[in-house]
Amino acid sequence: MATEMLTVTEAKAIILEHAKFLPPVNMALSRAAGMVLAEDVYASINIPAYAQSSMDGYAFSFTDLIAGKPLRIEGVIAAGSNETGVLSPGKAIRIFTGAPVPVGADTVVMQEKTKVEGESLYIEDGNMQQGLNVRTKGSEIKAGDLAVAQESLLMPAAIGFLAGIGVTEVLVYPNPSVSIIVTGNELQTPGQPLQPGQIYESNSYSLQAALKQLHITDVKVFHAEDTLDKVRQVIHDALQKTDVIFLTGGVSVGDYDFVAAAAKENGVEKIFHKIKQKPGKPFYFGKKENKLVFGLPGNPASVLTCFYEYVEPALRQMVKQKKGLKMMKVPLEETFNKTAGINNFLKGFYDGKAATPLHAQESYRLSSFANANCLIKIEEVATVCGKGEIVEIHLLPI
Ligand code: AMP
Ligand code: MG
Repeated sequence: MATEMLTVTEAKAIILEHAKFLPPVNMALSRAAGMVLAEDVYASINIPAYAQSSMDGYAFSFTDLIAGKPLRIEGVIAAGSNETGVLSPGKAIRIFTGAPVPVGADTVVMQEKTKVEGESLYIEDGNMQQGLNVRTKGSEIKAGDLAVAQESLLMPAAIGFLAGIGVTEVLVYPNPSVSIIVTGNELQTPGQPLQPGQIYESNSYSLQAALKQLHITDVKVFHAEDTLDKVRQVIHDALQKTDVIFLTGGVSVGDYDFVAAAAKENGVEKIFHKIKQKPGKPFYFGKKENKLVFGLPGNPASVLTCFYEYVEPALRQMVKQKKGLKMMKVPLEETFNKTAGINNFLKGFYDGKAATPLHAQESYRLSSFANANCLIKIEEVATVCGKGEIVEIHLLPI
């Protein structure tokens, strides 16, 4: 019933209405990379906590600098030194990068710009200024100042910055746990010999890899035979254990397609079933309380296309990430003929100038998808999309 089918735009919007974030949790900083902060984090101390030399050289008081007159070198301070000595007037002290600048000194000259004769230090830096080569206390951040704001994505530098101000734990939006339920009596596990009529099961592999790129690693894989009973039972199990459920296969109209019925018998509310798109027309989306159920078509290319176009944006919204697949408008390299009323997602290659649809667009094939770097979106209305026409592409994550 074509009239019931949603457009791609409608389906995307509906899914996002239902994708709610999970309650924030405390997470060890070392495990929080890629997550979004659920609180403002403030510095509890001044960083640096003491005035530090930023060079290997000599520390001294700028007011002691008189042209042509040497300073007298007395002592050494290395990084990690806890000496709190006072430098007396007219003296300089050997100092190394990261070491505390003693009281009485306010400036460091780098060793390359000095001449040392015995204990006399001649400063040969024409650009000497008070405070040069000294990182003052609190110059990175002051105690009480905002370090990283709520809703920030914890990229590697943010993790390092927070560690550098002494933070060990942060409140973040947790990643959802995911069940992948593969259905199909024909499926054989890679590594086992293929019996007549069998194919290797690949969807759980591509999906786990795609989830890994989103830092989602709490993933359970279930196998269900093609009976209503088995599919119902496995969905029941998955609903107990995880926040998000993917099913692959069994979502179409064949005699062995039990996903929609089995989901219903588990109290999953069908939000929609089928989208005007190719590949991935039989895509199913349902919900039970806050648990999302994605019925992905079984064909491997449909599974991944639906993942990138619909599931990934939902998962990102659940963890409050703003960044999704990068979208660009670029010229199409080759004419593509299509059926009107269907949105196509083509496996494509974008070379920096234009996007080329790859060979092997059939949904059972992954050979060209394996070399694609984008999906090319060809709108529902068109019957032909000519070479040079501007199309929307979605860059696949690297
Ligand atoms: P279905 O929607 O169950 O009719 O499956 C559609 C196509 O996808 C069939 O050719 C299946 O054999 C294939 N398929 C289903 N599940 C998988 C899987 N996990 N890995 C690889 N191919 C699959
Ligand atoms: Mg099947």
